[in-house]
Amino acid sequence: MMTNNASLLQRRSDAIPRGIGTALPVFAARARNAELWDVEDRRFIDFAAGIAVLNVGHCHPRVIEAARNQLEAFTHTAFQVAAYESYVALAERLNALAPIKGAAKTILFSTGAEAVENAIKIARKATGRSAVIAFSGGFHGRSFMAMALTGKTAPYKRGFGPLPGEVFHVPFPVSHQGVEVEHSLKALQQIFKADVAADEVAAIIIEPVQGEGGFHAAPPALLQALRTLCDEHGIVLIADEVQTGFARTGKLFGIEHSGVEPDLITVAKSLAGGFPLSGVIGRAAILDAIDPGGLGGTYAGSPLACVAALAVLDVIEDEGLCARAQLLGDSVSRQLQAFAARQDLRPLGHVRALGSMIAFDLLATRGGDEVDPVATQAVIKRAHALGLILLSCGAQGEAIRILFPLTIGDAVLAEGMALLEQALAPD
Ligand code: PMP
Repeated sequence: MMTNNASLLQRRSDAIPRGIGTALPVFAARARNAELWDVEDRRFIDFAAGIAVLNVGHCHPRVIEAARNQLEAFTHTAFQVAAYESYVALAERLNALAPIKGAAKTILFSTGAEAVENAIKIARKATGRSAVIAFSGGFHGRSFMAMALTGKTAPYKRGFGPLPGEVFHVPFPVSHQGVEVEHSLKALQQIFKADVAADEVAAIIIEPVQGEGGFHAAPPALLQALRTLCDEHGIVLIADEVQTGFARTGKLFGIEHSGVEPDLITVAKSLAGGFPLSGVIGRAAILDAIDPGGLGGTYAGSPLACVAALAVLDVIEDEGLCARAQLLGDSVSRQLQAFAARQDLRPLGHVRALGSMIAFDLLATRGGDEVDPVATQAVIKRAHALGLILLSCGAQGEAIRILFPLTIGDAVLAEGMALLEQALAPD
């Protein structure tokens, strides 16, 4: 059987439904740190990191070694059947690291959506209430509750209803889009007046930096106001750190930038460096509201993923990846600002970064605020042709997000930025 990209693409379209997209028109053969090679041995620099999963890079030797050792011991028991120490050790470590008030506990799952589903189950049981408030432009996953919480209709929600009820959306503040913190807080008060009383709300869920929604950081003033409201009305504050987690923003958890302590934190993606693992970390009293049997999953907290996650946390600490995220993010932001000032490149702006969670928009006119999603797609396609993996994000797909592994070498990063510069040249 031939294994070139063209023949695999044909087999893919014959065998796999259209509903799952793929950014690159090539098939992966192998990858190391911030580089990936396709089946035709073409090299790519990876500024996507498997959608924010590989903060420690592809195949970090310490992650691979931990997984290899576990493979030889056992691969699966189901934690509900026979427990294993790595799950407990990981929970202990996350409890100690999370910015949570008082005693914390952690339960593990497999995917981000599953963590979100369970965070809502937990908040509902703990409060005895059902309503949930989320933000427009937010993304929380593709399962039913996560889909209901997601603040974007097409392509995520449209046609998949009915969705779970009692979910309300507040506009997310993005200054250059004309929405300020005070607008969001007013809209929230309006929901309390018109739709559901504050004392019937189980949870407010927010991404410290919206991921799919465009890499817009929640202003600390918003997070602080939400904390106050949640305290006042007995609402559980959930930080969805699935995309922001594990050093990406320059801190282990994105919400740490605001000084706000959430009640629950959902984690996934970079937690286990490429192995499927997610979790809900939170105040012990809230997590313990669920009776035995109410939480779990056959593969939840897989032993392979747990040992990988312990290795990821070691790597983040030993390689100083929080500081490196800040350093690289500052440097790349400065380069993007310089690109924005150049007349010989496409108009771009709205450069934003929290640590190495970096994005910018392609613009319709130089210095304007109107975005140009068609140009964004053209730049991404050109980057792919040049050997640079980039992803878009944002309500209209107007933004280019940069998510290189935090372990990327200086030379590979510089090479990637040079390819980005080339991709930004007008046609
Ligand atoms: N929450 C956030 C903030 C995310 O970015 C994502 C995935 N992009 C999810 C939840 C869902 O995660 P998963 O795809 O692993 O279900």
